[in-house]
Amino acid sequence: MRTHSFDSVVPVDLVWMDRPNGNVMAITWSDDHSSTYEPSYLRKICPCAECKGTHTGAPKAFNILTAAQAAGIHREIVIESVQPVGNYAIAFTWGDGHREGIYSWSYLRLMSPEHTTAAKG
Ligand SMILES: [Zn+2]
Repeated sequence: MRTHSFDSVVPVDLVWMDRPNGNVMAITWSDDHSSTYEPSYLRKICPCAECKGTHTGAPKAFNILTAAQAAGIHREIVIESVQPVGNYAIAFTWGDGHREGIYSWSYLRLMSPEHTTAAKG
């Protein structure tokens, strides 16, 4: 049995890749792991206090949205800019103006999408 601590894991490479549904952030980590993050996923795991309160709630309903509501949902998963935070984290400015979340490397490594489903092997 292994327990994971990602406190000392840092990116050795970080690139944005063009995908049909928008750019995805691809990170190669110092522990040789590779992770890709969709903007919608990054927004979903936003670690700020305001968003954290909503993570455990029911997923946002996508049924019967007005065009404006649908556009708003689209804006909130558009990354307008990326800012480094010291040498330990990055922060995103989202299309809806939200920019409170600070994503530390250890948090991003911990939340690497494949780790949010049942671990294999
Ligand atoms: Zn947030």
